[in-house]
Amino acid sequence: MNRDPGASNSSPQPRYLGRFAPSPTGPLHFGSLVTALASYLEARRHHGGWQLRIENIDPPREMPGAIDRILHALELFGFEWTGPVVYQSTRLEAYQEALMRLEQAGRAYPCACTRREVRQSAREGLDGPVYPGTCRAGLPAGREGRSIRVRTDGAEIEFADRFQGALAIDLEQDMGDFVVLRADGHVAYHLASAMDDGAQEITHVVRGVDLLYSTPRHIHLMKLLGLQVPEYAHLPVVLNRQGQKLSKQTGARELDPDRPVAQLHTALVALGQRPPAKLKRARLQELWQWAEAHWDPAILTGVRELQLPE
Ligand code: GLU
Repeated sequence: MNRDPGASNSSPQPRYLGRFAPSPTGPLHFGSLVTALASYLEARRHHGGWQLRIENIDPPREMPGAIDRILHALELFGFEWTGPVVYQSTRLEAYQEALMRLEQAGRAYPCACTRREVRQSAREGLDGPVYPGTCRAGLPAGREGRSIRVRTDGAEIEFADRFQGALAIDLEQDMGDFVVLRADGHVAYHLASAMDDGAQEITHVVRGVDLLYSTPRHIHLMKLLGLQVPEYAHLPVVLNRQGQKLSKQTGARELDPDRPVAQLHTALVALGQRPPAKLKRARLQELWQWAEAHWDPAILTGVRELQLPE
């Protein structure tokens, strides 16, 4: 069974190329399944491709064995991706080269501030403290650069999110210059994600609304690096019964490899779809057929939170 229209498309680049980009900080849980499923079904609805990218550039947070468990779970649940899996760990040279280019163009600079110093001197913005620009004009005497920040210089970022509507962000005022190389020497998520969506020529990013305010930063970097900016669709996040976002930190359990159909069924229900109850006991292929034929994301418009179905 090959459900890979992206590869069979005669033009080299499909009109729609989506992706799923899990971090191997742990195995997939129900919240990850919801994101994977929605981004996959959107790609299928557009007769597009869907790539898998493993965001393994954060060794301190990586869990040994998580990559294999993620790949195994996605296969078991019947996801089929377009082309080879992309590993961010193989892209470190490209990230370094981009950092150099940004610095040489005067778009990025070394910063000596510790997290605590930033917290103490910054006002709260849309997504955490707004960096006050302490090291923008050069490192203070006697201090050494710890991280690298990208300049935001009055950047106005506007985009129309498929689910969350139009956003207009004054990047400098609302978020401030942000870190692209962390003090521990690892590339920041924002740089790696923006560069890879650009390099993979992703046309549509579907991901959780918890990353909504990452997007203006990604668009800013893509523009600076001359990369094509995709369309964005930020999905509501799934809350557990205590009203917390499902995540490893809130104790979300690993997907059960013995019950792919039932969990996909529940994920469809969480996403506002109405699969017949009898599909819970159907074969995997039947469930996918129903999902692809009936997927309707309109119900997610303007929604920020989803409840875990009973
Ligand atoms: N790696 C991120 C995560 O697992 C997702 C990044 C993205 O979709 O841009 O939360």
